[in-house]
Amino acid sequence: MKLEGKALEMRSLPARRRVTKYRVIRTKGETFPDGTILEPITNDSQTEPLQLVLWNGSEATVGKRFKIGEKIYAVAHIDPSTRRAIYFPGHARTSPSPGDLDRELKKLISRYSYVPEKQLILLTGFTLATWFSTNFLTAPWLSIFGSDRAAGTQLLRLLHCLCRRAIRIIEPSVATVSNLPRGWGFTLLVHTPQISRQVQRLIEAVRPRESFLPRRGRLLQMYSPIVTLTDGPCSLNPRMQSAIEISAMPDRSPRERLSQEAAEQIAADFQPLLLGYYLAMQRTVKNSDVATVGLSFRIGEMYENLAACTPNDYQLQTELLSALKEQDEVSRMTRSTETDVVIIESLLSFCHEGTPCVYVGDVTDTALDILEQRGGDPSLSPHEVGGRIRLMQLQIEPRDGRGFRVKLTETTIRQIHKLALDHDVPAMQGEITRCDYCRELMRVASQIATGE
Ligand SMILES: [Zn+2]
Repeated sequence: MKLEGKALEMRSLPARRRVTKYRVIRTKGETFPDGTILEPITNDSQTEPLQLVLWNGSEATVGKRFKIGEKIYAVAHIDPSTRRAIYFPGHARTSPSPGDLDRELKKLISRYSYVPEKQLILLTGFTLATWFSTNFLTAPWLSIFGSDRAAGTQLLRLLHCLCRRAIRIIEPSVATVSNLPRGWGFTLLVHTPQISRQVQRLIEAVRPRESFLPRRGRLLQMYSPIVTLTDGPCSLNPRMQSAIEISAMPDRSPRERLSQEAAEQIAADFQPLLLGYYLAMQRTVKNSDVATVGLSFRIGEMYENLAACTPNDYQLQTELLSALKEQDEVSRMTRSTETDVVIIESLLSFCHEGTPCVYVGDVTDTALDILEQRGGDPSLSPHEVGGRIRLMQLQIEPRDGRGFRVKLTETTIRQIHKLALDHDVPAMQGEITRCDYCRELMRVASQIATGE
């Protein structure tokens, strides 16, 4: 396989004397404010300790230790079994332009998987995003689904060779992942028939950058990009619907079998290219100010993250936007029949009628009408609706002669509008109504979308 770019000049530093007078920091990778980057790399032998590559903004140097300021940096220990499970780059190659790297990745992925042409950009975007994920507030999540296990597994194995520090997780749960060596920023590859409650908790734990999990008296940051391979699409609650979704359901078998030797060769060829790209582009990606237009908030954030990884490449960003728009449309359609969404829409319609209160029975009837119009399953009881309304933290008054009711006070109306925005309910999209709350929300929404 011919790859563009040439190996960066590298030299080991001479062994330093009297390093003990400096504090030695064991690092798993650092970026410094001046653009200097340290990354662990392998010297191609599985038994030798990892080394570090130092990027000074224009060239890469490999060594065991580097002095930066008053500190000496050396690579952190990683246990041999974890190390063997991960492809570390063997060196760094000068980075091709984003377009060139993207084209190589696309070519490679289409060689080993059947993924519709239009979705290839999402896979390459995700692959790049795993390298830059420390810049994001939400870790990217790639959901691959399809009934053909062999095709899905092969795609997962391919991503293992390409993503940054990817590791396959058996029996995925928060407990399993919290037992991994800490601070390495692994990309988690999870194969599970469906998103169980346990896997859902894992996804919720690893995606937000700012969330920490208490474990044995310490706070653990679990932040990791994640790939899930499931039999069917992820039908989760709305706040989790921000996966990049790829259907691995082939109408023919994978084009070429990915042998172990081929996988190792791909990792050996592409890890150095991806590392080179990361070193050269990290600063630009960090300062990226890509803004979203015309996507729901959750998909919009994903677009911003993925597009940031291909800075200045307008064509790539346009391709990404169009692929994500398609996904956004589909997920809006699915979402529009979801229970919470129709209940909120129903409540919203009563807010707009100006009635002082609404009975749960009436909310249910309107929700059923909406479901029926959209071709969803019209089965919903007032009991279930009451339960969902309570879960939304809306106050329900004690039962009177007609049943349970929600008082539509100013606070409640605000809450309902906030829920409508958070759930991207169809009634809120693109309609300018005479309602002050709706107008206010539209204003906030467009400000977020244009990044003002
Ligand atoms: Zn309104």
